[in-house]
Amino acid sequence: MNEQQAMDRALTLALKGWGRVSPNPLVGALLLRDGQVVGEGYHAEFGGPHAEVAALGSCPDPKGTTCVVTLEPCAHHGKTPPCADALISAGVRRVVIAIRDRHPEARGGVEVLRQAGVEVEVGCRQDAAAALNAPFLWSVARPDRPFVALKIATSLDGFIADAQGRSQWISGDEAREYVHWLRAGFDAIGVGRRTADADDPELTARGAVTPRVPRASCWRKRCCCRSARTAGPGYQLDSGGRRQHARRRAAGTGFG
Ligand SMILES: [Zn+2]
Repeated sequence: MNEQQAMDRALTLALKGWGRVSPNPLVGALLLRDGQVVGEGYHAEFGGPHAEVAALGSCPDPKGTTCVVTLEPCAHHGKTPPCADALISAGVRRVVIAIRDRHPEARGGVEVLRQAGVEVEVGCRQDAAAALNAPFLWSVARPDRPFVALKIATSLDGFIADAQGRSQWISGDEAREYVHWLRAGFDAIGVGRRTADADDPELTARGAVTPRVPRASCWRKRCCCRSARTAGPGYQLDSGGRRQHARRRAAGTGFG
C-alpha cells in the first residue's frame, strides 16, 4: 500500500467517528512499514484517544514507521496529551499529513515534529480531507456562524410533493437511513414553517449512530408553536438565534 492509498484508508477510518467526536474533528491514522499496514486507529469518541494514539496503541513496534494521518497531529494538552509528542516518543520516522490544523489551541504539530527530527509531508489527499472535516474547518474559520447543510429529496423532475402536498415518501429505506446517519453529525436540525405545520416531524436521529450531542431543532419564533413534536427539546432561532447557538456550543462542549 502506498501513502496515498493509506490516506484513503485513514479517511475511511476517520468517518467512523461521525456523530461521536464533535466539536473535535474526524481523524484517522495508519502506520506503515515498507508499504505494509502495521497499525491503524481513529478518533472514536469525544474525550477518548486521538487517532494517532489509537494507531500507536494497535502497533507492537511503531519505531521507524511512517504515520499517515488525515489532520495535523495536535501539539496541545487538551483532554489527552499532545499527539505530536506521542509520535516522537514512539520513534515514528516520517509523518504524512493531509491538512494543517488551524485550531488556535491544537495547531503546531508540524513544527514540533520537525524540530524533533521527524520527516513531515503535508498535502496528501488534502481536498478529500478538507471535505471530510468541512464543518470543523468552518467552525475554526468562522466561529460566529453555523455550518449549514441543505438536505433535499426530490423527484426526477424536481418536485418534493404533488400539487396537493399528499405524497410524503418519495425516497426509499436506504435514503431515510442515510438521512438519520446525516442528522447524527449535526448539532441542530432545521425545517421550514410549512413543513413543521404540515408534518410535525420529530427531527431526531434514529439510525445506527446515536449522536453525542443531543440535537436541537431550530425554527423561527412564532412559526411552529402548534407543532408539538418539532418543538420537542429544541430551542428557537430568531434574530438573536446565532448568539443563542454560539452560547449553546460554548456551554455544552469543550475542545479536546
Ligand atoms: Zn491529538
